[in-house]
Amino acid sequence: MLHRLGPAAVIAVALLVIACGGDEEVEPATTTTPTAVTTPSAVASPAMPSVVTSTTIVADLVKQVGGDRVSVVSIVPFETDVHWYSATPSDIAKTSEADLLVIVGGGLAVIEEILANGAEGSVLELTHEMDLRPFPEALAHADEHEDEHDEDEHEDEHEDEDEHEDEHGHAHGEFDPHFWMDIDFAIEAVEAIRDELSSIDPDGADHYHERAEAYAAELREVDAEIRELIAGLPEGRRYLVTFHDAFGYFAERYGLTILGFVVENPEEEPSASSIKELVEGITELGIPFIFREPQFSARVVQQIADDTGTTVRTIPSGALAEEYPTYVEFLRAIAHGIAE
Ligand SMILES: [Zn+2]
Repeated sequence: MLHRLGPAAVIAVALLVIACGGDEEVEPATTTTPTAVTTPSAVASPAMPSVVTSTTIVADLVKQVGGDRVSVVSIVPFETDVHWYSATPSDIAKTSEADLLVIVGGGLAVIEEILANGAEGSVLELTHEMDLRPFPEALAHADEHEDEHDEDEHEDEHEDEDEHEDEHGHAHGEFDPHFWMDIDFAIEAVEAIRDELSSIDPDGADHYHERAEAYAAELREVDAEIRELIAGLPEGRRYLVTFHDAFGYFAERYGLTILGFVVENPEEEPSASSIKELVEGITELGIPFIFREPQFSARVVQQIADDTGTTVRTIPSGALAEEYPTYVEFLRAIAHGIAE
């Protein structure tokens, strides 16, 4: 994918790097580089590594490591859920043209498989080397529900749903792919991105290493900040009820308990029995807040809140937004949503 360039091409690429630096004041340089324009191989080679990512969080990690030296585009836009997003022809075109596709992997979402199939450059799967946790709660719930279904007249319907799940290869399989909920995994991801960018763009290796190191240090500070914030919470505030099982790493890391979630698989409808179970648990423990995720419907969460007299708060789970446009701000939004 990376072509060896002759000296003329290298100069041309260097000039293109200047031209594509993004700052308006650099623009006049393009008028002084006629040789660059007449070198076809230079025109065909991108001036800086172009990276496409599945999600906005992954895009921010790449941006933090790459800085001005890479161009990054997330296929799934801000405030949009990766589990539901369908790739457009233009998404596939962007992906095939990129030097590098970075995805979460680990069965996060069908769209990632579609993008990976369309990629013509390198593909980096961030969770590939990570020691991910199994989905303990989800598996426990699934067993329970299976038993219930034995006496359930809608059993056939549920079997269809299982088939549907297999058919689409979705998602939230055996291991929890929401690695960004654990800062240690995020740092592993940053290091994997650093190494991949360095191999695509060896001249930038020092740049990527410096930035990755500084960013990891920033993440460790944010980690300490969140730990302190959550540590101050009384027992009754240390339970999480969320829409889907995305917060396992976050809970484990900061000493919170996942009481439950509305759906086991974000592509499925909530079941009456799991909602009943949640309502009982919330009432029993006297939990004051339950949490919706902005990219999912609030309807069921609101219904549970109405049934239990709790208040619904919103915490992000998978996508950046205007209010939290970076991963660091996203983490703070979760921590403050829970702790305030
Ligand atoms: Zn998810």
